[in-house]
Amino acid sequence: MKKTTFLASLVFMSAAYGYEAQVSKGTLPATMDAMIEKVNVETSLRFSINDFIKVEDLQLATSRFEMYVQAHQGVPVSKTAVRIWSDKSTQELILAELHISEEDKKNEKLLAQKFSKARFTSAAIKSKSLARSVSKLITEEIARHKTDSKILGMKSKDVWVKGDLVREVEVRSRRGLHIITISLLKNKVTEKSYTEFPQSESFHNLKANVYPIYEEVEATGEKLPYEVKVLKYINASLADVGESPLAEMASLKFPEELYNPILSEIDNSFWSETSLRKTIEGLVKKFPLRSNDLGSGMLLQGKYVTINLHPAASKFTGINFDLKPSVNHIVGWFETNGFYEAKPISGLYGKLITSEDDLLHRIPVRLIDHDAVSYINSGVDEVQVYYGVTVLMEALGEMGFEDPELSTKPFHAFLYDPDISMKDNAYYYDNTINFTTYSPTQTNLARDNPTIWHELGHGVMDRLMGPHLGFEGARGGYGGLSEGMADFIADIVVEHQTSGAKFPGKEDFRINNNTGFYLTNEYHDDGEAYGGAMGDMLDDAIAVHGREGLYDFADLTLEAMRLTRNHPALSPKGWYEHMLYADSLGSEVRTPGQFKSIIEEALKRRNFGFSDSFKPGSMTVHFEKGELTSSSPGSRDNPIVSCGTDEIVTHNLKLDLKAGEADFIKFPATVKVEFKKGALQGAIKWLGEEANPTIYTVASEGDILDIPLSAHLECETINQPDGSCKDYAYLQIFNQGSLRPVAKKRFYLKLNKAECIK
Ligand SMILES: [Zn+2]
Repeated sequence: MKKTTFLASLVFMSAAYGYEAQVSKGTLPATMDAMIEKVNVETSLRFSINDFIKVEDLQLATSRFEMYVQAHQGVPVSKTAVRIWSDKSTQELILAELHISEEDKKNEKLLAQKFSKARFTSAAIKSKSLARSVSKLITEEIARHKTDSKILGMKSKDVWVKGDLVREVEVRSRRGLHIITISLLKNKVTEKSYTEFPQSESFHNLKANVYPIYEEVEATGEKLPYEVKVLKYINASLADVGESPLAEMASLKFPEELYNPILSEIDNSFWSETSLRKTIEGLVKKFPLRSNDLGSGMLLQGKYVTINLHPAASKFTGINFDLKPSVNHIVGWFETNGFYEAKPISGLYGKLITSEDDLLHRIPVRLIDHDAVSYINSGVDEVQVYYGVTVLMEALGEMGFEDPELSTKPFHAFLYDPDISMKDNAYYYDNTINFTTYSPTQTNLARDNPTIWHELGHGVMDRLMGPHLGFEGARGGYGGLSEGMADFIADIVVEHQTSGAKFPGKEDFRINNNTGFYLTNEYHDDGEAYGGAMGDMLDDAIAVHGREGLYDFADLTLEAMRLTRNHPALSPKGWYEHMLYADSLGSEVRTPGQFKSIIEEALKRRNFGFSDSFKPGSMTVHFEKGELTSSSPGSRDNPIVSCGTDEIVTHNLKLDLKAGEADFIKFPATVKVEFKKGALQGAIKWLGEEANPTIYTVASEGDILDIPLSAHLECETINQPDGSCKDYAYLQIFNQGSLRPVAKKRFYLKLNKAECIK
């Protein structure tokens, strides 16, 4: 076998070097002198030992190896070498191979002239100023590359190439290697090439049917086509975990009273989701590896995501493959005698892939009833989630998410949580992205990339902004800012994937809104303003800098996330200040201050000012219990419970609008009171809702608008576990001619006729 390879390589030797020769065993002494003599005889040139530099002299197991390179003025001639293998004890020649440039030797006088004319000396060629001018040429050249323009490392060597003194520079970028040749005599780029790194052999790539965006447009129900795409980075090997992978965890206790995210960092008698996860990751490393290949059935376990079925999915009947416990876990809580304790619970591995053809036969079909068992058996959702997560991680990686570990470890996806109370949901929690089951009229969120990207947006925030991040005024991290940012990260990925191309439903994304700051009273709506402002910035960045603008602004966003890591109480203002700070620092891809005016202008257009004296536009709603705020009576978590008179509940709202310093609300302003079309609306029967929405006009600032609201005590539908209905009137302010509201507040009632009659 070895011999065949060796012979083949001889055949492929080209004549590009000018003179080539192979000297076989015993035919000449194993000395450089003997080789030079041979070359001189055969070329009629007069080489001497001074034309060569000795590069290596190495004892190998079976021979001594010497290598020389042809050189002029101390600069090697490209692709030349004399390599001599000799017997370690007898010094007899085993093999010599010669690659010599005749041309360079013939022109040696000319080369010497060129060299001195350019005022090169051995010292000058190593000088800083030459290095600087070369590095400038290189930076400019790399910056022009469309997909891989970040310099991660650089090395160079000077060589003679066909009579030209060149510096060959090898630049390592994120995804590949640039090789750029600069003529030192002409001070310009003479050759360049780019090679993408080979995919690590520890991954498999397979083609599959996936939705580039989603299966179904939420607002219209329109179905979009799937396409064949590559599932990348499927692990070639997996931990061989057996039947109960987390058995070793059974002896460890995670009681509620010892839960402490901060103390668990320094004292291992405490625990947190993070410390629990680390313990399990340590455990997994101890398992032997097994191959994850098509022959034995491949699982969708990859570099960026592992696909699991929810542990409770085992209670579905009719699953047509064996459910095996996976090494990935979710945290479950258990109560014993009033004490709560957490336990990691293994997910279940999904459907095995036996061939690429098998995968390509997984055809996405939208079932009318979203039957979970049929979906599980088809394996389609597994594929789609795998694809969605991988796309996000790869895209963000390209745009600067390259933090060690944080950018490379997988998220764990859990599909088909059968809990009915979780229906129609997707959520992120502790490094996992979770899917449930879906109602016939809802979209299957496992086939909806923007939803996947939003949830993973929370995941990326969790990783970069840290486990100890707190949002101002929000408990549990569920703040408007968090939602707005997750929308924004999804938006970045949508832009990365579509380059601004329109697709059905895109206009309805929550991030496309005109909602201003300080003009809402619950976090979903607050988040619109925060995310919307960032969406505007991104649009502006792309308008100015094109696709580069997307990359640069994503780079800025990621840096601002790092710079807010573990902030104890991050406010929207604090976040935007950190964006400006990250901008002022600049980066390898951004110049300092590149986005300052874009950020400031976008915020100004959202009724926001950094200065303490800034007077924003305002929307104030008063009623008999005072002002309506995010926590007052009438707010989401504090709805007004009343019985009214004669089965009619009545409240009179008074609305006061102010334009503010930025002239954000413009007069005359249109006020719409929406009863039906808002999220989760419809449980209460409002008087006059047939003519939905009710429309008013506020002619000028200072006019107080009366909004009488009346509802039937009897529910239209019951939507609360206690037999009541909770619903809201959605007050929305529109500027003239605008299609989207600039301000919106919700006024909640909770009605329970049965309770009132008692
Ligand atoms: Zn969210």
